[in-house]
Amino acid sequence: MAKCPLCGAVLDWAELIEQMLTIEGAEEVLQNKGMFMETFENFVFKCPKCGEEFYGRNLSGKEAEKVFELLNEFKGSIDWENRKVKLRINSLLALDTMLEGWDRKVKK
Ligand SMILES: [Zn+2]
Repeated sequence: MAKCPLCGAVLDWAELIEQMLTIEGAEEVLQNKGMFMETFENFVFKCPKCGEEFYGRNLSGKEAEKVFELLNEFKGSIDWENRKVKLRINSLLALDTMLEGWDRKVKK
């Protein structure tokens, strides 16, 4: 779960990605993992709760990678015309974490 490094508020990944959609060539970046990770780490996000700004590298890179995969796995996950993320990333991430835990339990 992504949290603001300054105030600790839980952040919505969809909202974070939407902030990134404003950059030039976003469409290309969102399709290339290496470019995405580099852009993500150096991108200045703004927390919607406290209004403070922070670099993407303050967030979990592992989670960012998963977000990238989710966005590319589902067709139409981004509405490019309106620069909106249509995917409920936070719910999918929670489900993913739950399944991983379940997987570990089963394999013991
Ligand atoms: Zn904050």
